[in-house]
Amino acid sequence: MKTIPRLRFAHLPTPVETLPRLAAALGGPKLLIKRDDQTGLALGGNKTRKLEFLLAEAQANGARTLITAGAIQSNHCRQTAAAAARQGFGCILVLNAPEGQSVAEASLQPLSGNLLLDRLMGAEIVWTTLEERQHTLQATFQSAWQDGKRPFLIPYGGSNAVGASSYAFAIQEMIDQEIHPDWIVFPSSSGGTQAGMALGARLFGFNGQVLGISVDEQASVLQSRVANLANETAEFLGEKQRFEAGDILVNDGYLGGGYGVMGEPEREAVNLFARHEGILLDPVYTGRAAAGLIDLIRKGQFAAGETLLFWHTGGAPALFAERYRQVA
Ligand SMILES: *Cc1c(COP(=O)(O)O)cnc(C)c1O
Repeated sequence: MKTIPRLRFAHLPTPVETLPRLAAALGGPKLLIKRDDQTGLALGGNKTRKLEFLLAEAQANGARTLITAGAIQSNHCRQTAAAAARQGFGCILVLNAPEGQSVAEASLQPLSGNLLLDRLMGAEIVWTTLEERQHTLQATFQSAWQDGKRPFLIPYGGSNAVGASSYAFAIQEMIDQEIHPDWIVFPSSSGGTQAGMALGARLFGFNGQVLGISVDEQASVLQSRVANLANETAEFLGEKQRFEAGDILVNDGYLGGGYGVMGEPEREAVNLFARHEGILLDPVYTGRAAAGLIDLIRKGQFAAGETLLFWHTGGAPALFAERYRQVA
């Protein structure tokens, strides 16, 4: 395998813990959790792994400013702002105004959750609407370029071959920890995490199932996206693996009210993890994936002797966002 340039700022390996009290409460199979919410960078999360590779590329390109885009409570944007501060880059975040709000209204809203942390870590915030997003991103990049800021674009969710390769190595890390679950379950959205895991499973000989719970996309759409990205990632690493959409396991039964909408299943899941194990999930990603996991356990989808590993991808700062007050 090719050696890939990488900076080192994540706290790795992340711990793996058992969840005996939650497992007992659900009356299901053995539960493990891999704590990628503890990657150490400004409250952590799965984007920290991706950013170790993406920032190495930015540095090699002589970049001085990182630009990325996301939702108002984006964990990806918060971790990018943190990585930029840590490694001495400037950071510009292009954030979508919440639905129904103008750019002017969005820029006046009170800071909370991830948005507060973005500001705290010195990121410049550019607001846009969903329709204008691509245009705003391009215009922001161009103007940063003209101002001599040497911008470097980090893709949405950090999900290109460079970012996704980090999750192939995360599978290697889990195997090195001598953890061999029958299932890995986690939230999947822009697909980089799942693409990396799917590739890592093949490259490092993980024989269990890698099941992404879709956060905001129909299964067929997400499966093709992940398969394409896994192929690009394999190529990037100089490996010959090929993936078809059918190789990628996605459950889209838990889309609820759409992206970022906390419903009763997410609320229940966040509360169960908090009350039985003292572990904080988030209302958008891990709460939704855990709601799926809990439902599948209750429906008896897993055999009694199986071990499930819930891969915690982070996101808890959103618990402190104004809009998720109802969680407790
Ligand atoms: C971004 C994110 C995900 C989704 O990861 P992708 O690689 O975009 O599929 C899951 N959980 C949390 C907390 C995230 O911030």
